Order: sequence, then structure tokens, then C-alpha cells
Amino acid sequence: MPWFGIINEYRNFLPVTHETPVITLHEGNTPLIKAVHFCARARLDLDLYFKFEGSNPTGSFKDRGMTLAISKAVESGAKAVICASTGNTSAAAAAYAARAGLKAIVIIPEGKIALGKLSQAIVHGAHVMQIDGNFDDALNIVKALISRYPITMVNSINPFRLEGQKTGAFEVCDQLMSVPRYHALPVGNAGNICAYWKGYKEYHTAGRTASVPVMLGFQAEGAAPIVRGKKIEQPETVATAIRIGNPASWQEALTVKEESGGRIDMVSDDEILSAYSLVASSEGIFCEPASAASLAGVIKLHKEGFFTPGDAVVCTLTGHGLKDPDTVFRVSKEPSRMAADLEVIEDVITRIV
Ligand SMILES: *Cc1c(COP(=O)(O)O)cnc(C)c1O
Repeated sequence: MPWFGIINEYRNFLPVTHETPVITLHEGNTPLIKAVHFCARARLDLDLYFKFEGSNPTGSFKDRGMTLAISKAVESGAKAVICASTGNTSAAAAAYAARAGLKAIVIIPEGKIALGKLSQAIVHGAHVMQIDGNFDDALNIVKALISRYPITMVNSINPFRLEGQKTGAFEVCDQLMSVPRYHALPVGNAGNICAYWKGYKEYHTAGRTASVPVMLGFQAEGAAPIVRGKKIEQPETVATAIRIGNPASWQEALTVKEESGGRIDMVSDDEILSAYSLVASSEGIFCEPASAASLAGVIKLHKEGFFTPGDAVVCTLTGHGLKDPDTVFRVSKEPSRMAADLEVIEDVITRIV
């Protein structure tokens, strides 16, 4: 069956009418991939799946929320949209605004945006402003602006973002043809974990599924306000997409944890990078450092004896590794250089095969 994006596919579950214009790049329908080598390599006794959101049109799950946020902005007559971003929101906002013929304004923390994401915002024609401050500063500026200008905010505080993002949970249920016991995600502003939980609950209420999963969220140690129970003024982590010190959906994430009987925990940058290179080398899946926080978290909890052998666990891999290729060289060496000489090369080959 051809796929026409999450609004067309799941419209009965979304706040749209037949008058709502559908601004889509055919996002969603991302693969749910069963782990074949990762578990043995990471010593996990689990039935593990990767929901690879890097397959979305702009390379992250933000597209699911953006198709709805931009469609609703057009329906309401908006001429421009604005967001603060650690990168992927601005890439998605810029692309969907271009598709809709709207202006996009993005405010980003200087020097902390992966180059792939910045180039997306620019190539799609957004007005990009880099501020001398962090994501939380950027978000405060955006909040102040929207009260004074006729611009629609498309950060995850915009409720349509989370409505769109909840379709990730629908797809997991449809693809697995059941509900996983656990669902693990990285946590930055904590919008996505809330969106997935909403999706799982709605599918259950609609009688599509027999249960809901336990939700597991993972922050980076240097940016773990929810775990530590206090705002972090200067969040730091290699996982720039979750480098957030004051999450927009902080309280809501705690509610998800309570309702689902889950956990919000943290993982170190070393644990993140090791999971990031392991999933790439063992499964052929290249995700962002932030995405690997979900895997690193599952490995950590497994070591603590949290799971029962064979538990079905889905990890959302939130974005594509190509957005941030520089990080590869923090965990792997650059290829060695050698003479264009058959004998020299053969000498190496015989050591490989
Ligand atoms: C936005 C983003 C996150 C964090 O999602 P939240 O909804 O802010 O918790 C994680 N990974 C990637 C790749 C992202 O773009």
C-alpha cells in the first residue's frame, strides 16, 4: 500500500478535519528493525527492536510532529512559524514551512548545532539566528516573541507536535502486531516520551491493543535535570539533541513514568558513544548520539537486572547519524593512508580475511 504520511494514515486519531490542508513529505512508516547481533555483542538477553526514525524525510522523528504543526498553522492562516532548536526541530520546521510556502524563523544556540542540521535549516530557506546562549535561552526568547507577533510557535509546547509524534507508537503496535513490554527513548525536552505514551494509551482505549508498555526515558548525565530534580544551568553532553537543562515537558514526563510504572534515568557520554558505535557496527544502523541514549539506557538497566530474560523492548532511534558525522571520529580513527601499491594493500587484506 502506498504511504501518504501520518495525517492521511492516522487521521481518525488526529485533530484534523477534511478542511485541514495536509502539508506532508510522506513522513512516518519508518522501519521497526529486529536486532540480530546487538544483543550478543552487548550481552543483552532481550527481544530487542529499533524504531529507526532516521528514515523520516528530514532524518528525525521531528517530521511527525511538524507535518501536523505546519498543517494546522496553514489552516489557521499563519504566515510564519518560529522555533528554538537544538537542530532537528529547525531542520523539520524549515522543510515543512518550505513545502507549505510559509516563512520559517529559527533561533539556535551558537556552535552547538550539528552541521548537518544547520545546513538543512539554511538550504530550506529558513531565517536562521544563532544566539550566544543555550537552547533554554533560545526557547525563552521565542516565548517572548510569540506573545507580540503573529507567528506560530512550532516547538513541542505546540500541542499539535506531540499529537503528530504519537503516531510513532501506533506504528510500533501495527508493525509488531502486539505491544512491547518496554519502550525506551532519549529524553531532552521530554515531548517525545509523552507523545509515545499518549499514542499507546489511545490505541489501547480504541481496542487496537491489549496492553500498554512500560516507558523508559534516558537523559545524558551532563543534562539530566529530571533525574537530578533540578534545572541544569549549563547542560553539557556529546548528544546535542538532548542537551537541555530545563525540559518543556518535565512534569508531564514524570506523569508518564508514574502511569506506566517506568523509569527516567541517565547515561554517561561514554555509554552513549559506545552504544552508538555498537549499533552502527553490529547492525548497520547509523543513528545520532542522542538516539543511542535509549540503547545505552537499556544496557545499563539490563546490567542492574531490571529486565526478565526475553522481554520485548523497543528503542526509538530518534535521528540519523549522518546529521552529525563528526562524532564518528570521536569513537573511531580516520582511515590510514598508504601507497597506491598492490603489495602494500594485499599485505593488509591478508590480515583481514
Ligand atoms: C528532539 C530530539 C530528541 C529529544 O526529544 P524530546 O522530545 O525533546 O525529549 C532526541 N533525539 C533527537 C535526535 C532529537 O532530534
